[in-house]
Amino acid sequence: MRRVLTGTSLRQKEDVCMLNLTIDGHALQAPEGMSILQAAGLLGIKIPTLCYLEGVNDIGSCRVCVVEAEGADKLLTACNTKIREGMNVTTVNERIRNARKTALELIVSAHPGALSDHPAGGVNELQALSREYGVSSPCAVPEEKSAEDRLADHPFLQYLPEMCIHCQRCVSTCAKVSGRNAITLDQAGRLNVIGAPFGADWKESLCESCGNCAEACPTGAISRKKGPAAGNVKRVRTTCPHCATGCQIDMVVENGRIVCAEGADGPSNGGRLCVKGRFGSYNFVQSPERLTDPLIKDRATGEFRKASWDEALDLVASKFTAIKEKYGPDSLAGFACARSANEDIYMLQKMVRTAFGTNNTDNCARVCHAPTVAGLATTLGSGAMTNTIADITQDSDVILIVGSNPEEAHPVIGMQLRAAIRRGARLIVADPRDIGLVQNADIHLKMRPGTNVALSNGLIHVIIEEGLTDDEFIRTRTETDKYEQLKQMVEKYTPEYVGKICHLDPDDIRAAARMYAKARTAPIIYCLGVTEHSTGTEGVMSLSNLAMVTGKLGRPGCGVNPIRGQNNVQGACDMGAMPTDYPGYQKVHLPEMREKFEKAWGVKLPAEPGLKATDCFPAMVEKKIRGLFIFGEDPMRTDPDTHHVKRALESLDFLVVDELFMTETASMADVVLPGRAYAEKEGTFSNTERRVQRIRTAVEGPGNSRPDTDIFTDIMNRMGYPQPYLTAAEIMDEIASVTPSFAGISHARLDSEEVAGRGLQWPCTGPDHPGTRIMHVGKFSRGLGTYSIAEYKPAQELPDDEYPLLMMTGRMLYHYNAMAMTDKTPGLMEISGHSYIELNNADAEKAGIRDGERIRVISRRGMITSEAHVSEKTSAGECWMPFHFLDGNANWLTNAALDTISRAPEYKVCAVRIEKIPEEEAYNAQGEYITQAMVAEERGRIYQEQLRIPARCAEGGSEN
Ligand code: SF4
Repeated sequence: MRRVLTGTSLRQKEDVCMLNLTIDGHALQAPEGMSILQAAGLLGIKIPTLCYLEGVNDIGSCRVCVVEAEGADKLLTACNTKIREGMNVTTVNERIRNARKTALELIVSAHPGALSDHPAGGVNELQALSREYGVSSPCAVPEEKSAEDRLADHPFLQYLPEMCIHCQRCVSTCAKVSGRNAITLDQAGRLNVIGAPFGADWKESLCESCGNCAEACPTGAISRKKGPAAGNVKRVRTTCPHCATGCQIDMVVENGRIVCAEGADGPSNGGRLCVKGRFGSYNFVQSPERLTDPLIKDRATGEFRKASWDEALDLVASKFTAIKEKYGPDSLAGFACARSANEDIYMLQKMVRTAFGTNNTDNCARVCHAPTVAGLATTLGSGAMTNTIADITQDSDVILIVGSNPEEAHPVIGMQLRAAIRRGARLIVADPRDIGLVQNADIHLKMRPGTNVALSNGLIHVIIEEGLTDDEFIRTRTETDKYEQLKQMVEKYTPEYVGKICHLDPDDIRAAARMYAKARTAPIIYCLGVTEHSTGTEGVMSLSNLAMVTGKLGRPGCGVNPIRGQNNVQGACDMGAMPTDYPGYQKVHLPEMREKFEKAWGVKLPAEPGLKATDCFPAMVEKKIRGLFIFGEDPMRTDPDTHHVKRALESLDFLVVDELFMTETASMADVVLPGRAYAEKEGTFSNTERRVQRIRTAVEGPGNSRPDTDIFTDIMNRMGYPQPYLTAAEIMDEIASVTPSFAGISHARLDSEEVAGRGLQWPCTGPDHPGTRIMHVGKFSRGLGTYSIAEYKPAQELPDDEYPLLMMTGRMLYHYNAMAMTDKTPGLMEISGHSYIELNNADAEKAGIRDGERIRVISRRGMITSEAHVSEKTSAGECWMPFHFLDGNANWLTNAALDTISRAPEYKVCAVRIEKIPEEEAYNAQGEYITQAMVAEERGRIYQEQLRIPARCAEGGSEN
């Protein structure tokens, strides 16, 4: 782990007193509170360390960093001795060198295995220091030396105790960097030993398999099981392809293959990675299941055959042109891939607008954060996260989390939140489940799903009633007439009234309102638990009401902070893959915007906004949309009410899918085009905090796959729109030329020393603009902030006698979205490979269902089987399912009821019933109880056969 800072840098504090001192004869001034090691660093003097990790571990146990200070008899450990006024320090002389050598000899003799060659090869930090100081292995190796891997059954990590020097870097990293406290320091006799999860069953521990401990270990005692063979590797800095945290990763490439991933010191991750980023971000790129050639389906037989690019693209262009000519441009549509680069998405929407001639383009934000885009744009003027991840996790007194489970959906943000709580931030969690963060919460509002608007109105009621509003902010920054309407509207939302709606104790609502309103700094962090409702946009706006009445916007450690889902879903919206907006949220319906883009693109553009993706599906059934281009999305797995999606896709005259894998959606296409993965191209992703960061080519694409922007360019030209072939950097220049908020962003600038790998946060309005860390400072993007006057409305489908349980869906730690990427890493599948449903004890008991039993889950739209996980995590009458899995995919059950404003579906509430699997169906022919894992395996086998693609190589084809 390199340079992880967990708190505010000492030099950033304004009131700090400067001290005068001398180090190795050089006079300097350094801030009070700094260690000798840090002060020496200001002069470029490097003091050797072993157990020290900046900002994480400064226990001074190894004594390798000792230095002399004038007037002190004993040598001082530089890592944890603070500087003093007038101090005179010497960092190198004979005495110091001898002391360091002795320290290393003691370490090596107490831990004789520590200098052994690591099975993975390479030189570790202890070996390098020992060589420098002339320390070699003791001749006598104690008998208890053991080469046993204590994590033999762990898919990713190994622990070789004989190499461990008990420096506690892993313990501190797990506690302070990952905030997990999974690694313990145990006592064995008089010795400290590293304990769980390396001494007990790791599966039973808190370990999330993030591997941050392995990156901190100076001897390789904890290390990843697989890495580079030796020596000749290159590291390519890129951005994680999973969630929108935007962690920076170094891809380690050896002989043209990515062999592992390392955490890099990015602004949103500070060197951390989660299990998906570290172990699940490259196997899929090199999977033998990648599509390598264009495929054309024979509709009569349903069989795909390989085709040349010319044949496939001619067919695509001719079919789309024919549909357009016969039924009009609006009979076509194109969905963008929110996992792909900004440059790809820009070109996709340009293809739809210029060559197809329609605004029917959208992206998967429609099914997740479209309410955020619509809601925050209405109240604040910009539909994006207001602050930064570092800001809301490092500078907040109180954190209010609503409908978000960052430990699983955005794990590196979760790690930083745990660290913030450890440092003293207070936490309010409003969530229907006992998510992990609840253990650290001061208040858990375990609310009824679908009641967010009522809760916000109730909190505002208390804040107004108790005089906790920020009247100056309301008067100067917001529309006061709207505030008066809000005040009137929330009058009836007393804690008692809201408590009944939300199933909460009124006193908890009061306590939460007071804690949030009285805090100096308090961000609201929210996610899909707020947006994926038929009142999702109103839920978002009600949170912005809450922030405005308390004046918690436009300043550090505050704001309204939606945590976006997929790695580049923010970018997909920014790039104009929306039926209503050109790039940069420039409105299609405004004639001046249309004229601007007509001039830039040299073509007449449609005047009417297009259909939103969720409205496209019914339009397909009605034959209003007949031709569809899907770039990298899998609505068959991810959209609600799968029967409805299937019927819509089957109704199309012509479906084209540009993909990496033969997904369920791709298998329904007429033509499948093999595109490139993120590690095979240049470009940028925009993370949840509006930060545009680079992705870079680490390896070549497989077979005859092609860059997606070239595919779109080919189709544009074939359909009569003259589009030159552009590099990703040239495309970003074009984006900057038509998008004011991106005007200062270019690949050259992102790669420059000025930006230094920190990315640029839009708005970035010119080449000298530094980007925008905090939005709405002094003034909202729309001028005065406005309030939503929305009353609480119940969800569209509530439990009844026939379907008595309320079901929510969501994400879990080890998989992402449709699993198209994460299911290619066998280790992730081993940890979590099949679907489950969380049931409350009382509901399970009533249905006679035991923990671990396979059950049926039935809604008005379908039936699936899954495995019961019985606990108190959900309230009685409520249950929860992850939506990732092929077996027991929750979306066969979910309801496609849409938010009336943004048209996002209500994934978070539908009514289901559960049934025990009858005895005669519970056992197979061999008399074995059929587990969900068996179901998953069988469905996977059938699926592979149906798709007629090679079964996944369990061995050799892809490595952990
Ligand atoms: Fe990747 Fe998100 Fe994990 Fe970071 S937190 S490593 S971006 S999946």
